[in-house]
Amino acid sequence: MIAFDGVTKRFGAWTAVDEVSFTVQAGEFRVLIGPSGSGKSTLLKMVNRLIAPDVGTVRVEGEDIARLKPEALRRRMGYVIQDVGLFPHWTVERNIATVPDLLGWPKARVRDRVTELLTLLSLDAERYRGAYPHQLSGGQRQRVGVARALAAEPRILLMDEPFSALDPITRGALQAEMAAIHKAMGTTVVFVTHDMDEALALASRIAVLDRGRLVQTGTPLDILTRPAGATVRDLVGRED
Ligand code: ATP
Ligand code: MG
Repeated sequence: MIAFDGVTKRFGAWTAVDEVSFTVQAGEFRVLIGPSGSGKSTLLKMVNRLIAPDVGTVRVEGEDIARLKPEALRRRMGYVIQDVGLFPHWTVERNIATVPDLLGWPKARVRDRVTELLTLLSLDAERYRGAYPHQLSGGQRQRVGVARALAAEPRILLMDEPFSALDPITRGALQAEMAAIHKAMGTTVVFVTHDMDEALALASRIAVLDRGRLVQTGTPLDILTRPAGATVRDLVGRED
């Protein structure tokens, strides 16, 4: 469970996140959507303390995260950033094993986990475990980024436009894989996108941001059939 309570973040005179309150229940696939600059990434980064709110609290599984050590908090959650951020001089295997290695997992367990994840994400484990990021296609790198985030079996997965740079076919395949992983593992997912089709395909619930404010939260059906205001109508492509 992730609970935002009256969260505000300002950068100089600009209020990037403005008194946002909502709760992501355990096991939910929550999509954050909104126009560019609406505060999605800022809100996501507040969950793993890459950014601290000026006002308000973020609680994870009931604990106010301001009281937790950032490193301990981050090991409990997977984080996928838009440009993946793989270590270029590390193999696929070592990249995926980053958190398990930090946690001191035995080598054999790490190796099995890497095999399991590469297979889950439709990458041939024997072919790719020893490859370097520059030897992979963009879609394959995205898959490795997702595998790395999942490696230590986090209960929470934060994903910031993870598939935005991909062609529609690869993107569709990764969306399907993400939906299957979510279903199989029951991970709580917070997924940022500005693409409503992607949001509707993946979300159990959607939160819509506009200029830092939460303008609507609801199921895909709620958003489609009862868009609250012009921003949401624009995002779903409705004229009225
Ligand atoms: P996009 O879809 O383009 O990724 P976003 O919804 O993720 O947009 P944020 O990155 O959260 O938007 O930024 C929200 C607002 O805060 C923007 O106006 C941005 O310019 C501003 N902002 C974000 N980070 C900083 C920073 N470090 N310093 C100053 N302003 C910032
Ligand atoms: Mg962003």
